[in-house]
Order: sequence, then structure tokens, then C-alpha cells
Amino acid sequence: MSATLSDLIAFHRNDALAIGAPDRPWLTYAGLRDLVEHTVHALHAAGIGHGDRVAIVLPNGPEMAAAFVAIAEGAVTAPMNPAHRLDEFEFYLADLGAKAVVLADGYDGPALTAATRLGLAVLRLGHDAADPAGSFTLRAETVAPGEPDRATARPRDIALILHTSGTTSRPKIVPLRHGNIAASAHHIAQSLALTPHDRCLNVMPLFHIHGLVGALSASLAAGASVWCAPGFDALRFFGWLEAARPTWYTAVPAMHQAILSRARHNAEILERVPLRFLRSSSASLPAQMMRALADTFRAPVIEAYGMTEAAHQMTANPLPPGAQRPGSVGVAAGPAVRIASETGNWLVEGPGEVVISGPNVMPGYEGNEAANDAAFFEAEGLRWFRTGDQGQLDGDGYLTLTGRLKEIINRGGEKISPLEVDGVLMDHPAVAQVVTFALPHPKLGEEVAAAVVLREGMAADEAAIRAFCAERLADFKVPRRVVLLDEIPKGATGKLQRIGLAEKLGLADP
Ligand code: ATP
Ligand code: MG
Repeated sequence: MSATLSDLIAFHRNDALAIGAPDRPWLTYAGLRDLVEHTVHALHAAGIGHGDRVAIVLPNGPEMAAAFVAIAEGAVTAPMNPAHRLDEFEFYLADLGAKAVVLADGYDGPALTAATRLGLAVLRLGHDAADPAGSFTLRAETVAPGEPDRATARPRDIALILHTSGTTSRPKIVPLRHGNIAASAHHIAQSLALTPHDRCLNVMPLFHIHGLVGALSASLAAGASVWCAPGFDALRFFGWLEAARPTWYTAVPAMHQAILSRARHNAEILERVPLRFLRSSSASLPAQMMRALADTFRAPVIEAYGMTEAAHQMTANPLPPGAQRPGSVGVAAGPAVRIASETGNWLVEGPGEVVISGPNVMPGYEGNEAANDAAFFEAEGLRWFRTGDQGQLDGDGYLTLTGRLKEIINRGGEKISPLEVDGVLMDHPAVAQVVTFALPHPKLGEEVAAAVVLREGMAADEAAIRAFCAERLADFKVPRRVVLLDEIPKGATGKLQRIGLAEKLGLADP
């Protein structure tokens, strides 16, 4: 698929609704196209052009969504988590070689301090509350030196630079081409059968690939609309459903879990706002949670598998009449998906490493040749990317992930998939959330441990939970320690982090 982000929005009806937000009129596709044009002029006036990297530090919402599309046409976007602290901003801005930073009018937090220290141009994004959602004006507070390159974007140009979530190691820089994003957006729109009649309620952060492509770009590719919530909030979610009247939403399992826990009090809203489907991605969706979601929303739950390096989606469960298989991330939905051994041989079923090849895959990590050498290989005339995830394909092409290769627990040579242990623990009636992780052990190297959050009003102790596991798992897989917590610590994008959890919980000293 060779297209740019502005090609994605080029041919939709002028008056079709594109971006919405609470208490704001809708931005139409014609409005969005005008905004792209104005933004390119504003960038040039600020000395920013083709190939220059522009960090975007904005609250989640419609301006952030529109700014991503508009700035990518004249320069390169690098959305950042506004919750970063000063040293994180300094590190990330320098790491990606930003030339300018886009900040909201009136913002004077750590991103401004970092940008000033690094001598970056500062662009201010302002909006009038009476304007349509997403509409903004961009003005230079400080101008970058030199003449900007006024070329417009082409499909092979880099549109977006993100860091990976940093779940397994230091975050890596992922540059994505316009063509990568456009391909992924079309793959997602196709697998969800999106049409201009669809509307996504976006609760995902727009500094992460899931929100940018899984919700926003996929909707734009289909000429559909996106209603941008100011961020995830389980208490306000049901009000947003009523206000936005979406046909779907996409989220990570931790958000779905929070939504489920409020669903009982909001049954009437669920009646009034029927969804066509809901989607889950970015982390494993326990089969029990999938069934509970499907019952609660009376809609199919589409679990998909994505990663930053693939511009999000790689596989997805099909919509009905296809079968949504609980515990599986579905079938190839864009790139070719295969299983390879450590030495690079194809495995028919697996388990082995999931490898992908397709137009959505990034050109390569930036400034990390060692990581590229390890991640890419050639076979059958195609370039394959190693995902670092372990999985298994069944006869119908459904992929089941068995864990991340780096997270597999090695107990004296016995390999244990933490996901398998999670699955058993989730069957315990008192367990709401679980994360199984490696506990350092002086003789075995690693032992199995699990952190558990109990359901409200339910009780169970460590011994009872271990006994429950012992009835269902081989002895070596039964967690030696079960820690009961009020909340499980998560990374910036809301992911459970298995690696380093023992240290975080003060359990690392055997
Ligand atoms: P890092 O690469 O820095 O360690 P990360 O891999 O968490 O961080 P992302 O690109 O945000 O960064 O996440 C991609 C990973 O998320 C996948 O490789 C996979 O391990 C996991 N993942 C995504 N979707 C699913 C899913 N449906 N089920 C299970 N795991 C998933
Ligand atoms: Mg990763």
C-alpha cells in the first residue's frame, strides 16, 4: 500500500464527520484537509519542513489527533507522553533528534524546560472552544534557523517516530513510514469492516501506536468518525458512550477490566448504545474477560495482536460469521505471519518465535544496528521481522501467543510460559487480575511467582490459591509465591511488566 496520511483522508465526502469531542461541533473531512494545508504553511513559517522531527506534547484529545495527521504532511511527528518528567523529556527529545516541540497554549511544564535547554523551536497550538473538535492554529514562539525544505510527504518518507513501550528492555526508537501506517490502517479497517457509518470512541493514548493507528488512522482510512475522549476514565466511560454514540471502541485489557467492573451500574446505557463490536489489543486478553465483555456488551469481542514495529496490527480475530476464539489473537490480518525456530527454520505449528513480513513493518530500529541484525532475516525473497513473541499456529491459521521470549520463566532448564499460569489463576473465582513472573532463585535460576488482585468483596489466601494451581498445573509450574496486591504496577502505556516485577515488589533477594 503506497499512500501517505493525507492520502488516507483525501477522497472522503467533504461533509462526512471526521473528528469529534465532548461539547464541540464535529470537524468534517473537508475541515481536516484545510487544517493539514494551514499547518504545513505554519510549519514552514516556523522554519520547519520535510524530514524535520517535531515532538508533540499535548493532552489526549481531538487536537492531538488532528495535529498528528497535519504535521506528518510537512514534517515528521514524534508524539510523546505528556506525563514524562523533565529528565525523560530531555532524554527522549535528544534521542530522537527533535528540531521543534508542539505545546498547548499556556503550557509551561517540563517539556518546555527541556525544549528550551536543548535549544528547540517551540510551536504553540491553540484552539477556540467554539471551533470544531480538533481544529487548531499553530504559531511559532521561537523559530528554527535556516530555510525549511518545503517538499510534501511521499509514501516512503518517515511520518512517525515512537519509542517502544519498554516492557522488556530500554525503549527502542521505531521510525514508521507513511506507507507503513497507511497499510496498517487499511488492514485494520478491512478486518473490522469499517465504513463511513462507523464511529470509534477513542480512549487510548495518542502517543502510542494502538490509539494512533488502531483507533484514529483506521477510522480515517475508512472515512469513518472518531470521537476523542480526553483519556481513559472508567467512571466517565459510560457517559461518553451516550454522548458519542459509537459503534465500537478499542482498548487494552486493563481498561476493559475497569469498564467491566462499572458495567453493572450502567446497564441502561449499554441497552441504549449497542456496539457493533469491541476490540482488544496490546496485551493478552484472558478468555474469561473476553466472555464477560461479550456478555456485557452483547457484541463480538475482537482480540488483535499488534506492536509498534508493525505500525500496530499483525493478527486479529475475524468478525462474525468468523469465529472469535478466546485465548487466540486470531488470524493473519495484514502481514504474512509464520513461526520460526531460533535458528531461522520454519515451524509448521510451533511453539516458536512469531515472525512477520508485510508493508506495515518498519524499515528498522534507528541507531541500533545490533537490534536490527537480531530482528531481521531474509527468506523466500522476503524480509522477515522477529517479533520476540512466542506462539503457536493451529490448522485454521489461528495464532495463540504463549509469551514473550524474554519473559519465559526458566526454572532450572524447565521453560514455563507465564501466560499459561495466568490463565489458570484467572479461573479462580476470587481472582480479578494476575501477573505471573520470574523470581530469582539461587539454585534453579528462576522460580515461578504470581501477583494477584482479588475481586471486590472476595477473599482467598496464598495457600488456597497455590492449592488451586496445584490441582491444575504440573508441580514445577505452580507459583512458589503468590503475592496479594491492591493494584499491579504498570508501564506508561498501561501494560503489566513481568520483567523486573520481583525487584519492584521487593522479592528479588532469595
Ligand atoms: P518493548 O519492545 O520496548 O519491550 P513492548 O513490546 O511492550 O515494549 P509495544 O510495541 O507497545 O512495546 O507492544 C508490543 C507487544 O505487546 C507485542 O510484542 C506483544 O508481546 C504484546 N501484545 C500485543 N498485543 C497482544 C495480544 N493481543 N496478546 C498478547 N500480547 C500482545
Ligand atoms: Mg516489543
